[in-house]
Amino acid sequence: MGLDNALAPLLETRRQQHLYRQRAELGSPQGASVILNGRPMLAFSSNDYLGLANHPRIVRALKRGVEDYGVGSGASHLICGHSREHHALEEELAAFCDRPRALLYSTGYMANMGLISALVGRGDRVFEDRLNHASLLDGGLLSGARFQRYGHNDVQALEKRLSDDGPGHQLVVTDGVFSMDGDLAPLPELARTCGTKNAWLMVDDAHGFGVLGDKGAGTAEHFGLGVDDVPILMATLGKGAGVFGAFVAGSETLIDYLIQFSRPYIYTTAMPPALAAANRESLRVMVEESWRRDRLRTLIARFRHGAEQLGLPLMASETAIQPILVGDDARVMAIGRALLQEGIHVGAIRYPTVPRGSGRLRITLSAGHSETDIDRLLEALARVFGQDGGAELL
Ligand SMILES: *Cc1c(COP(=O)(O)O)cnc(C)c1O
Repeated sequence: MGLDNALAPLLETRRQQHLYRQRAELGSPQGASVILNGRPMLAFSSNDYLGLANHPRIVRALKRGVEDYGVGSGASHLICGHSREHHALEEELAAFCDRPRALLYSTGYMANMGLISALVGRGDRVFEDRLNHASLLDGGLLSGARFQRYGHNDVQALEKRLSDDGPGHQLVVTDGVFSMDGDLAPLPELARTCGTKNAWLMVDDAHGFGVLGDKGAGTAEHFGLGVDDVPILMATLGKGAGVFGAFVAGSETLIDYLIQFSRPYIYTTAMPPALAAANRESLRVMVEESWRRDRLRTLIARFRHGAEQLGLPLMASETAIQPILVGDDARVMAIGRALLQEGIHVGAIRYPTVPRGSGRLRITLSAGHSETDIDRLLEALARVFGQDGGAELL
């Protein structure tokens, strides 16, 4: 069968299941107000939690970086692409996260694939929270280690599966802040369990970095956990930090090992040095403008209070990710479209990003929003959910 003839029916099935995805075209910088498909929208859908993606200081740092280093990095880190900017950023990230050393990856997806597959393999076991990000699941599968998922945040179930001694290594992997639910992993309990069972704990803090903790170092800082508790810390730079890229922070030995053995680190072109310069400036802004985290907290409280008064099905999240559970995939898409008509863009999330039957609006708040923006969102939600919870939209 020809290629297109084989693929076309699969696309058709996707459409019939209401799972066909389309990309909207962004015609503006990321921010509270954007131009989406040519129309002005109030946006509650990006991961730019601190409002840094278009911050003037970070924009200037990127431009300066291009003037100093050009556009392309030209090679992988191990050949000749590792610039002074990358190196300085790694040192600053390590200090910021209170870890001995850090290593840059081009994206979080690659970091997760590269980490897990370098640390465990055949004969080892990897344990993952059922709601972990796709890149963590893919990394676990790629590694060839025996792969087991445990119930969401169910430390007791995990503990039962971990063995006290070999054979092989045991790696426990969790999101710090769950990307589609917004809740936190119970890191102190996980760290304790991993300690007693001689398992290695890896935390993906894509949605905690920049947002949680006094200085914004993330979920580990929030819980006061050091490198002994969370020996493998990974976070991304394209969300709270507002730029692009990812990193792993841990011991000297861990980082040295990854440089030697992590294939997605070794066999890829380094991120452009100007992006490293922009990330360095973002770190400084995150520290100096700590009001952004305070403001985000205020907005989260305002949103939750308003949504509770409307009787909307909020989830147990205190973070910038504030999902509203809808359930049915077709209904969540219809509600998303109705909000677009109101000039509001929120993520309408369905299977396979979340389990079947748990379609939701993934509302994300940012320090870039104003209180008026939050009130406009609440008014639109009140209209769209109406008395029948949006059922008439179908
Ligand atoms: C976004 C995300 C990633 C991937 O990071 P990128 O830099 O976008 O590739 C990994 N893990 C989690 C939990 C994420 O939300």
